[in-house]
Amino acid sequence: MSRRAAAPTVLEGRGVSPGVAIGRAVCIETRGGEVYRFPLAEAAVEGEVARLGEAVERARQELKATEARARRELGDQLVAIFGAQALLLEDRALLGRTEARIRDERVNAEWAVHKTAEELAERFEQLEHARFRERGDDLRDVTRLLLRSLQGVAHHELEELEGDVVIVAHDLTPSEAVRLGRQRVAGFALETGGPTSHTAIIARDLCIPLVTGLAGVTRLVTDDDPVIVDGERGRVVLHPAAADLDRYRRRRRRRAAREARLLETRSEPCVSRDRVAVQLMANIDLPEEIDEAVRYGATGIGLYRSEFLYIESSPGLPTEEDHLRTYRRLLDAVHPHPVVIRTFDLGGRKLAREVMETEEDNPVLGLRGIRLTLGRPEVFESQLRALLRAGVGRNLGVMLPMVSTLEEVRQFRELAGRVRAQLAAEGIEHTPRLRLGVMIEVPSAALIADHLAAEVDFFSLGTNDLIQYSMAVDRNNEHVGYLYRPLHPAILRMIRFVVDSAQQAGIEVSMCGEMAADPRYTALLLGLGLRQLSVSSRAIPEIKSRIRELSVAELGPVTERCLKLASAADVEAELDSYLGTGVATAEGAGTVR
Ligand code: PEP
Ligand code: MG
Repeated sequence: MSRRAAAPTVLEGRGVSPGVAIGRAVCIETRGGEVYRFPLAEAAVEGEVARLGEAVERARQELKATEARARRELGDQLVAIFGAQALLLEDRALLGRTEARIRDERVNAEWAVHKTAEELAERFEQLEHARFRERGDDLRDVTRLLLRSLQGVAHHELEELEGDVVIVAHDLTPSEAVRLGRQRVAGFALETGGPTSHTAIIARDLCIPLVTGLAGVTRLVTDDDPVIVDGERGRVVLHPAAADLDRYRRRRRRRAAREARLLETRSEPCVSRDRVAVQLMANIDLPEEIDEAVRYGATGIGLYRSEFLYIESSPGLPTEEDHLRTYRRLLDAVHPHPVVIRTFDLGGRKLAREVMETEEDNPVLGLRGIRLTLGRPEVFESQLRALLRAGVGRNLGVMLPMVSTLEEVRQFRELAGRVRAQLAAEGIEHTPRLRLGVMIEVPSAALIADHLAAEVDFFSLGTNDLIQYSMAVDRNNEHVGYLYRPLHPAILRMIRFVVDSAQQAGIEVSMCGEMAADPRYTALLLGLGLRQLSVSSRAIPEIKSRIRELSVAELGPVTERCLKLASAADVEAELDSYLGTGVATAEGAGTVR
């Protein structure tokens, strides 16, 4: 049960998106899978009941259409299932209770559906008879249908809440972070998550301070509690005193001034002290970030995570025109610099209900990225058509996520060839040749980099997943976060091998994982031979100023010494003594940058 803490209380966590947020708490419940609990203002309650009604009507229509299709394709026998499900959509036990819950508890319709269905399912399970157990299956199907349908009926908007809102939750999926982050959210305080989780990446993109690893925060905080989120030091202050508020406001002003100063470096060339040029590109997840990438002086987009286009258009799929419009916007904004568009990296925690045909026990090791693309080519056709069309006369690279075998690259080329032939037959202008690259983010791909280099035009090192899969550490799990060490010798050896393989084959290699955005590692990455880095826009000025301080010719010996060491701690110590700054020892201490 919630307990109101009246005196200032400091909770320690891990700051994974910098900045200071001052606001009042809105606690949302996220433990029901994709469903979250959201408190409603009194005035919004009847609208929410109406929204439920609309969703039920849409679900009925969808069920009818499915029933008709099943009748055509499978005959009359199986159609009874849909009849039973349609009856559930009339059932007062489900809908009446759901409505009552929205009114009594003042919560969003998704949560009310989820909780009511959970209660009913428990009751069905207790009944012995098989017929009731089957009803449990129907209930699960209807609940899913209803939740999907609710997604299509205008989302609940945070704007109804007044003032600066700090979201307090157990966890947030990347799509929730996008949805909530786009509203007027000031900060996030979460129980789970690590610095390279997609939720953290989104928070940084949207400049929303985020502190993770706050054990028990959802029990300690009550809606409306005043809070401060300190994304730099990894702290949340509950019920701050006036002196705390003053101090944090001053810090916010200092931070804004520092950012403005860093921005002034945007036109300085990105070269080391000994004039070695390094290309600094931007990672972007949402199309609107492109303006910021240009403002911060990115010389190209090294990673566009196109799957967020899907997440935004969910429950529908983006159309070919949606893709094309977005890709052209990015390409035009940075022309003549390159834009690397990564094909959908759906699956894993980036849920893709509309394209996944099965539920997976372990989705991070499942049908994710290129595996899903090749498994459901019809779903990805519109993306491929748009890529081939957008590439005309533009500097476009297409990058495949989660590649673990050579065959995947070859199969993708075949698929692209079929799509190209289709466009040609339709007389639609398209590029005759795709510049094709792969993410190196699965250890098996890193270790066959020499073979892969013969098949593609470029590599990009995705250290977020490469570390996750090499160390067997879920990048979202704060309990094993201490093992998530970019400087682990296994990771450094793989980076060295990948860079060497690319150089020998004469193809480009960059790094777009978060390791590239951390100034503590810049010297080592340049020493390892990297000359292209892709980082979130806001990290560009700091990485650039670090590059401008370094002399690449001097980095060889320290890099070789690091590569001979047996543990991450030893590498940190070696780098530390070389740089003489104490920066490297901060690894794992809880700050991203
Ligand atoms: C990575 O894995 O390093 C990467 C850049 O891809 P994502 O973070 O989207 O998984
Ligand atoms: Mg990845």
